[in-house]
Amino acid sequence: IVGHLQRTTVKEYGAELLTRSHMVFELQGALDGDARHGVLMAHYQPQVDFTHGTLIGMEALVRWQHPVRGMVFPNSFIPLAESTEKIYQLDMLVLVQVCRDMRGWLDAGLPVVPVSLNFSRRSLLHPQVIADLTAELERYAIPGHMLEFEVTESQLLETVELVAPRVAEFRELGARIAVDDFGTGYSNLDAISSFPFDRLKVDRQFVSGVAGSEKVAGLFQLIQGISELFKAELLCEGLEEEADLLWLAAHGADRVQGWYFSAARTPDAIVRILTALRDRAADEQPLSVAQLRA
Ligand code: C2E
Ligand code: MG
Ligand code: MG
Ligand code: MG
Repeated sequence: IVGHLQRTTVKEYGAELLTRSHMVFELQGALDGDARHGVLMAHYQPQVDFTHGTLIGMEALVRWQHPVRGMVFPNSFIPLAESTEKIYQLDMLVLVQVCRDMRGWLDAGLPVVPVSLNFSRRSLLHPQVIADLTAELERYAIPGHMLEFEVTESQLLETVELVAPRVAEFRELGARIAVDDFGTGYSNLDAISSFPFDRLKVDRQFVSGVAGSEKVAGLFQLIQGISELFKAELLCEGLEEEADLLWLAAHGADRVQGWYFSAARTPDAIVRILTALRDRAADEQPLSVAQLRA
């Protein structure tokens, strides 16, 4: 029996390895623009301030439209891209698309809002990143302050002595820095205080269910206090339920991103949202919560 089990395990492991290396091969193809391996493209998820009734930004989230697998979500290929050193190419591909999309929206006279991009630690620390970022901003004539770079708390706080000077270089270009998935790392306050950041994104686990759990609510308020201490803007991720929205409203947390308002949308859908915003700009009224739900 043991022998049989071992054979099965080895066989399955072999199949897994084949799948993994095949996926790496396909990912490289997609990164190089070979459409046989599908297309990598960013969708955008709106970020709103529901108290002031405004669209405050959008987060670019990469999707892999694969001819056989269909839409593949980042959690199944970002770690692979990170471990095989393809992540810089991927993050730059998204950056270029974002700059190109924003240029198109600006040229069409649409009310463009800042876009947040996810950057892996490896991309943030890449020796070429400042030169490449500067070149893309110039190529598409996008002001640096229209971009924000999100790095997860755990990746950002690892070796701050390397990260801090690079964060400063991003901010010199006008770009903003956000700490993503805050509360899921070690939340090392000493490390966090060693460089300036603009926004703290509260992880979904401290937002979802906040209305119904004293523990979640307590942790949320702790994070809110940290954001105030560091004078960083707070943005809540993963809001799905109205009860949680009401709780956040009562606790002064106005900036949110989540399926309650909208999931990530294709660039075409974003054009429709921005067009609707432009066409109503004349009558100054802030948008209601219902109107913000795209
Ligand atoms: P993240 O940056 O924390 O992004 C938020 C994730 O939560 C996204 O998943 C988003 O679609 C999802 N989400 C948004 N609202 C809700 C909600 O109300 N409920 C729930 N359950 N989920 C919600 P997604 O798009 O699958 O991305 C997963 C992660 O992949 C991202 O987490 C980010 O860390 C990474 N990622 C995405 N795009 C890129 C990229 O271009 N480069 C890099 N390096 N990482 C990326
Ligand atoms: Mg993010
Ligand atoms: Mg997050
Ligand atoms: Mg995340």
